[in-house]
Amino acid sequence: MTIQWFPGHMTRARREIQAKLKLIDVVIELLDARIPLSSRNPMIDEILQSKPRLVLLNKHDLADPAVTAKWVAYFADRGLQALPVDSTNGNQLKDIASRCRELFAAKIATQIRKGINPRAVRALIVGIPNVGKSTLINKMAGRKIALTGDKPGVTKGQQWIKVGSEMELLDTPGILWPKFEDQQVGMRLAATGAIKEELLHISDIALFLVRYLASHYGSSLQERYGIEKLPEDMKDTDAVIAIMEEIGRKRGALLSGGRVDLEKASLTIIREARAGKMGRISLESPDDLR
Ligand code: GDP
Repeated sequence: MTIQWFPGHMTRARREIQAKLKLIDVVIELLDARIPLSSRNPMIDEILQSKPRLVLLNKHDLADPAVTAKWVAYFADRGLQALPVDSTNGNQLKDIASRCRELFAAKIATQIRKGINPRAVRALIVGIPNVGKSTLINKMAGRKIALTGDKPGVTKGQQWIKVGSEMELLDTPGILWPKFEDQQVGMRLAATGAIKEELLHISDIALFLVRYLASHYGSSLQERYGIEKLPEDMKDTDAVIAIMEEIGRKRGALLSGGRVDLEKASLTIIREARAGKMGRISLESPDDLR
Protein backbone atom coordinates (compact mmCIF):
# COMPACT_ATOMS: atom_id res chain seq x y z
CA MET A 1 0.00 0.00 0.00
CA THR A 2 1.31 3.45 -0.83
CA ILE A 3 0.76 6.09 1.77
CA GLN A 4 -0.03 9.64 0.84
CA TRP A 5 2.43 11.55 2.96
CA PHE A 6 1.50 14.93 4.34
CA PRO A 7 3.62 17.10 6.65
CA GLY A 8 1.39 15.97 9.54
CA HIS A 9 2.03 12.33 8.70
CA MET A 10 5.76 12.89 8.60
CA THR A 11 5.83 14.60 11.98
CA ARG A 12 3.77 11.80 13.49
CA ALA A 13 5.89 9.06 11.89
CA ARG A 14 9.01 10.72 13.20
CA ARG A 15 7.59 11.05 16.72
CA GLU A 16 6.46 7.43 16.71
CA ILE A 17 9.93 6.21 15.78
CA GLN A 18 11.60 8.46 18.31
CA ALA A 19 9.29 7.13 21.03
CA LYS A 20 10.24 3.57 20.07
CA LEU A 21 13.96 4.41 20.11
CA LYS A 22 13.72 4.65 23.89
CA LEU A 23 12.75 0.98 24.04
CA ILE A 24 15.46 -0.47 21.84
CA ASP A 25 19.23 -0.94 21.56
CA VAL A 26 19.75 -1.23 17.81
CA VAL A 27 17.93 0.02 14.71
CA ILE A 28 17.69 -2.16 11.61
CA GLU A 29 17.41 0.23 8.67
CA LEU A 30 15.90 -1.59 5.71
CA LEU A 31 16.83 -0.28 2.24
CA ASP A 32 16.12 -1.66 -1.22
CA ALA A 33 19.43 -3.11 -2.49
CA ARG A 34 18.55 -1.99 -6.04
CA ILE A 35 18.18 1.66 -4.97
CA PRO A 36 19.76 2.13 -1.54
CA LEU A 37 19.85 5.91 -1.56
CA SER A 38 16.52 6.45 -3.27
CA SER A 39 14.81 4.11 -0.81
CA ARG A 40 16.33 5.96 2.12
CA ASN A 41 14.57 8.52 4.26
CA PRO A 42 16.14 11.97 3.77
CA MET A 43 16.14 12.71 7.52
CA ILE A 44 17.26 9.33 8.76
CA ASP A 45 20.42 10.46 10.59
CA GLU A 46 18.53 13.21 12.34
CA ILE A 47 15.71 10.85 13.33
CA LEU A 48 17.89 8.01 14.61
CA GLN A 49 20.66 10.17 16.03
CA SER A 50 23.35 8.13 17.72
CA LYS A 51 21.43 4.86 18.05
CA PRO A 52 23.56 1.92 16.86
CA ARG A 53 22.39 0.90 13.41
CA LEU A 54 22.58 -2.05 11.04
CA VAL A 55 21.73 -1.38 7.40
CA LEU A 56 20.07 -4.23 5.51
CA LEU A 57 20.18 -4.11 1.71
CA ASN A 58 16.97 -6.04 1.18
CA LYS A 59 15.75 -7.69 -2.03
CA HIS A 60 19.39 -8.55 -2.68
CA ASP A 61 18.08 -11.48 -4.77
CA LEU A 62 16.83 -8.94 -7.35
CA ALA A 63 19.85 -6.62 -7.29
CA ASP A 64 23.14 -6.77 -9.18
CA PRO A 65 25.60 -8.45 -6.75
CA ALA A 66 28.59 -6.46 -8.05
CA VAL A 67 26.79 -3.16 -7.43
CA THR A 68 25.56 -4.34 -4.02
CA ALA A 69 29.17 -5.04 -3.03
CA LYS A 70 29.99 -1.43 -3.92
CA TRP A 71 27.14 -0.23 -1.73
CA VAL A 72 28.41 -2.29 1.20
CA ALA A 73 31.77 -0.50 0.81
CA TYR A 74 29.98 2.85 0.44
CA PHE A 75 28.21 2.41 3.78
CA ALA A 76 31.36 1.07 5.48
CA ASP A 77 33.14 4.28 4.45
CA ARG A 78 30.43 6.13 6.32
CA GLY A 79 30.76 4.03 9.46
CA LEU A 80 27.72 1.83 8.83
CA GLN A 81 27.65 -1.94 8.53
CA ALA A 82 25.48 -3.00 5.60
CA LEU A 83 24.36 -6.57 5.02
CA PRO A 84 22.75 -7.75 1.76
CA VAL A 85 19.67 -9.89 2.53
CA ASP A 86 16.71 -11.58 0.91
CA SER A 87 13.86 -11.41 3.42
CA THR A 88 11.77 -13.96 1.57
CA ASN A 89 14.14 -16.69 2.75
CA GLY A 90 15.32 -16.95 6.31
CA ASN A 91 18.93 -17.85 5.58
CA GLN A 92 20.48 -14.73 7.03
CA LEU A 93 18.48 -14.42 10.24
CA LYS A 94 21.35 -15.68 12.38
CA ASP A 95 23.72 -13.26 10.74
CA ILE A 96 21.34 -10.34 11.34
CA ALA A 97 20.95 -11.30 15.01
CA SER A 98 24.69 -11.67 15.56
CA ARG A 99 25.45 -8.32 13.89
CA CYS A 100 22.88 -6.63 16.13
CA ARG A 101 24.43 -8.28 19.11
CA GLU A 102 27.87 -7.04 18.09
CA LEU A 103 26.53 -3.51 17.81
CA PHE A 104 25.22 -3.86 21.35
CA ALA A 105 28.41 -5.52 22.61
CA ALA A 106 29.69 -2.68 24.78
CA LYS A 107 26.53 -2.70 26.87
CA ILE A 108 26.58 -6.48 27.16
CA ALA A 109 30.17 -6.32 28.42
CA THR A 110 29.13 -3.81 31.11
CA GLN A 111 26.30 -6.07 32.24
CA ILE A 112 28.61 -9.05 32.53
CA ARG A 113 31.11 -6.96 34.48
CA LYS A 114 28.38 -5.96 36.90
CA GLY A 115 27.43 -9.60 37.32
CA ILE A 116 24.11 -9.15 35.52
CA ASN A 117 22.97 -11.84 33.12
CA PRO A 118 23.16 -10.08 29.74
CA ARG A 119 19.71 -9.52 28.29
CA ALA A 120 18.67 -9.99 24.68
CA VAL A 121 19.47 -7.14 22.27
CA ARG A 122 16.29 -5.21 21.42
CA ALA A 123 15.82 -4.07 17.85
CA LEU A 124 13.42 -2.01 15.75
CA ILE A 125 13.02 -2.31 11.98
CA VAL A 126 12.53 0.94 10.07
CA GLY A 127 12.05 1.65 6.37
CA ILE A 128 9.87 3.14 3.66
CA PRO A 129 6.64 1.37 2.55
CA ASN A 130 7.15 -1.82 0.49
CA VAL A 131 10.80 -2.21 1.31
CA GLY A 132 10.05 -5.54 3.03
CA LYS A 133 9.55 -4.72 6.73
CA SER A 134 6.60 -7.09 7.28
CA THR A 135 8.26 -9.86 5.29
CA LEU A 136 11.37 -9.66 7.47
CA ILE A 137 9.41 -9.40 10.73
CA ASN A 138 7.37 -12.48 9.80
CA LYS A 139 10.53 -14.41 8.94
CA MET A 140 12.15 -13.42 12.20
CA ALA A 141 9.03 -14.35 14.14
CA GLY A 142 8.74 -17.64 12.28
CA ARG A 143 5.04 -16.97 11.81
CA LYS A 144 2.72 -14.43 10.28
CA ILE A 145 2.30 -11.43 12.53
CA ALA A 146 -0.93 -9.53 12.03
CA LEU A 147 0.43 -6.09 11.32
CA THR A 148 -1.73 -3.04 11.65
CA GLY A 149 -2.27 -1.22 8.36
CA ASP A 150 0.76 0.35 6.76
CA LYS A 151 -0.18 3.75 8.05
CA PRO A 152 1.68 6.01 10.40
CA GLY A 153 -0.42 6.86 13.42
CA VAL A 154 -2.22 3.53 13.56
CA THR A 155 -0.83 2.08 16.72
CA LYS A 156 -1.65 -0.99 18.69
CA GLY A 157 -0.13 -2.61 21.71
CA GLN A 158 3.34 -3.42 20.51
CA GLN A 159 4.98 -6.65 21.48
CA TRP A 160 8.40 -8.19 21.52
CA ILE A 161 9.11 -11.03 19.15
CA LYS A 162 11.79 -13.40 20.38
CA VAL A 163 14.41 -14.20 17.74
CA GLY A 164 16.41 -17.06 19.21
CA SER A 165 17.55 -16.44 22.76
CA GLU A 166 19.69 -13.39 22.09
CA MET A 167 17.44 -10.97 20.28
CA GLU A 168 14.02 -9.36 20.63
CA LEU A 169 12.31 -7.41 17.89
CA LEU A 170 9.48 -4.89 18.16
CA ASP A 171 6.58 -6.29 16.13
CA THR A 172 5.56 -2.87 14.76
CA PRO A 173 8.13 -1.40 12.37
CA GLY A 174 8.91 2.28 12.00
CA ILE A 175 7.49 3.54 8.71
CA LEU A 176 9.50 6.26 7.02
CA TRP A 177 8.76 8.44 4.01
CA PRO A 178 10.98 8.41 0.92
CA LYS A 179 12.68 11.35 -0.77
CA PHE A 180 9.91 11.91 -3.27
CA GLU A 181 10.55 15.57 -4.05
CA ASP A 182 13.36 14.48 -6.38
CA GLN A 183 12.00 13.32 -9.76
CA GLN A 184 14.82 10.83 -10.45
CA VAL A 185 14.23 9.27 -7.06
CA GLY A 186 10.52 9.05 -7.88
CA MET A 187 11.36 7.21 -11.11
CA ARG A 188 13.52 4.68 -9.28
CA LEU A 189 10.88 4.15 -6.60
CA ALA A 190 8.19 3.62 -9.23
CA ALA A 191 10.39 1.35 -11.37
CA THR A 192 11.06 -0.95 -8.39
CA GLY A 193 7.44 -0.90 -7.21
CA ALA A 194 8.01 1.11 -4.04
CA ILE A 195 5.39 3.64 -5.07
CA LYS A 196 2.36 3.17 -7.29
CA GLU A 197 3.24 3.56 -10.92
CA GLU A 198 0.03 5.55 -11.48
CA LEU A 199 1.63 8.38 -9.52
CA LEU A 200 3.86 9.06 -12.52
CA HIS A 201 3.37 8.66 -16.27
CA ILE A 202 3.92 5.02 -17.04
CA SER A 203 5.83 5.80 -20.23
CA ASP A 204 8.15 8.17 -18.33
CA ILE A 205 9.01 5.38 -15.88
CA ALA A 206 9.68 2.98 -18.77
CA LEU A 207 11.75 5.62 -20.56
CA PHE A 208 13.88 6.07 -17.46
CA LEU A 209 14.19 2.29 -17.07
CA VAL A 210 15.10 1.53 -20.69
CA ARG A 211 17.64 4.33 -20.69
CA TYR A 212 19.26 2.97 -17.52
CA LEU A 213 19.13 -0.64 -18.69
CA ALA A 214 20.54 0.23 -22.12
CA SER A 215 23.44 2.09 -20.46
CA HIS A 216 24.22 -0.45 -17.72
CA TYR A 217 22.73 -3.78 -18.76
CA GLY A 218 22.66 -3.37 -22.55
CA SER A 219 23.25 -6.98 -23.49
CA SER A 220 20.54 -8.28 -21.11
CA LEU A 221 18.06 -5.85 -22.64
CA GLN A 222 19.09 -6.80 -26.17
CA GLU A 223 18.88 -10.48 -25.40
CA ARG A 224 15.49 -10.28 -23.72
CA TYR A 225 13.82 -8.42 -26.59
CA GLY A 226 16.00 -9.38 -29.55
CA ILE A 227 17.18 -5.83 -30.09
CA GLU A 228 20.01 -5.60 -32.61
CA LYS A 229 21.35 -2.17 -31.94
CA LEU A 230 21.10 0.15 -28.97
CA PRO A 231 21.22 3.93 -29.28
CA GLU A 232 24.72 5.36 -29.27
CA ASP A 233 23.69 8.41 -27.32
CA MET A 234 21.45 7.54 -24.37
CA LYS A 235 20.55 11.21 -23.99
CA ASP A 236 18.78 10.96 -27.34
CA THR A 237 15.22 10.51 -26.04
CA ASP A 238 13.77 9.77 -29.48
CA ALA A 239 16.24 6.91 -29.92
CA VAL A 240 15.31 5.45 -26.52
CA ILE A 241 11.60 5.74 -27.37
CA ALA A 242 12.33 3.92 -30.64
CA ILE A 243 13.67 1.02 -28.53
CA MET A 244 10.49 1.04 -26.45
CA GLU A 245 8.46 0.93 -29.66
CA GLU A 246 10.52 -1.93 -30.97
CA ILE A 247 9.84 -3.84 -27.74
CA GLY A 248 6.12 -3.01 -28.07
CA ARG A 249 6.00 -4.34 -31.64
CA LYS A 250 7.77 -7.53 -30.61
CA ARG A 251 5.37 -8.03 -27.71
CA GLY A 252 2.30 -7.33 -29.89
CA ALA A 253 1.40 -4.16 -27.96
CA LEU A 254 -0.34 -2.53 -30.89
CA LEU A 255 -3.20 -0.10 -31.34
CA SER A 256 -5.65 -0.34 -34.21
CA GLY A 257 -3.88 0.78 -37.37
CA GLY A 258 -0.67 -0.94 -36.25
CA ARG A 259 0.75 1.87 -34.16
CA VAL A 260 2.59 0.80 -31.01
CA ASP A 261 0.66 1.08 -27.76
CA LEU A 262 3.42 2.77 -25.79
CA GLU A 263 1.57 2.55 -22.47
CA LYS A 264 1.16 -1.18 -22.83
CA ALA A 265 4.75 -1.65 -23.96
CA SER A 266 5.88 0.43 -20.97
CA LEU A 267 3.94 -1.70 -18.53
CA THR A 268 5.46 -4.87 -20.00
CA ILE A 269 8.99 -3.52 -19.66
CA ILE A 270 8.44 -2.36 -16.07
CA ARG A 271 6.78 -5.61 -14.97
CA GLU A 272 9.45 -7.78 -16.59
CA ALA A 273 12.34 -5.78 -15.15
CA ARG A 274 10.79 -5.93 -11.66
CA ALA A 275 10.27 -9.67 -11.93
CA GLY A 276 13.96 -10.14 -12.73
CA LYS A 277 13.38 -11.22 -16.35
CA MET A 278 16.46 -9.29 -17.39
CA GLY A 279 18.51 -10.77 -14.59
CA ARG A 280 19.54 -9.12 -11.37
CA ILE A 281 19.61 -5.38 -11.89
CA SER A 282 20.40 -2.38 -9.74
CA LEU A 283 19.07 1.04 -10.70
CA GLU A 284 21.51 3.09 -8.68
CA SER A 285 25.24 2.64 -8.10
CA PRO A 286 27.84 4.53 -6.06
CA ASP A 287 29.63 4.99 -9.41
CA ASP A 288 26.74 7.21 -10.59
CA LEU A 289 27.46 9.62 -7.73
CA ARG A 290 30.88 10.56 -8.98
P1 GDP B 1 6.60 -3.40 3.94
O1 GDP B 1 5.59 -2.44 3.39
O2 GDP B 1 7.92 -2.72 4.17
O3 GDP B 1 6.14 -4.16 5.14
O4 GDP B 1 6.90 -4.46 2.75
P2 GDP B 1 6.40 -5.97 2.58
O5 GDP B 1 7.04 -6.84 3.59
O6 GDP B 1 4.92 -5.96 2.49
O7 GDP B 1 7.05 -6.33 1.17
C1 GDP B 1 6.67 -5.69 -0.04
C2 GDP B 1 6.85 -6.66 -1.20
O8 GDP B 1 8.23 -6.97 -1.36
C3 GDP B 1 6.15 -7.98 -0.99
O9 GDP B 1 5.62 -8.38 -2.24
C4 GDP B 1 7.27 -8.92 -0.56
O10 GDP B 1 7.02 -10.27 -0.91
C5 GDP B 1 8.43 -8.37 -1.34
N1 GDP B 1 9.74 -8.64 -0.68
C6 GDP B 1 10.11 -8.32 0.57
N2 GDP B 1 11.38 -8.67 0.81
C7 GDP B 1 11.86 -9.22 -0.32
C8 GDP B 1 13.13 -9.77 -0.73
O11 GDP B 1 14.13 -9.78 0.01
N3 GDP B 1 13.22 -10.24 -2.01
C9 GDP B 1 12.16 -10.22 -2.87
N4 GDP B 1 12.34 -10.72 -4.10
N5 GDP B 1 10.96 -9.71 -2.54
C10 GDP B 1 10.81 -9.21 -1.28
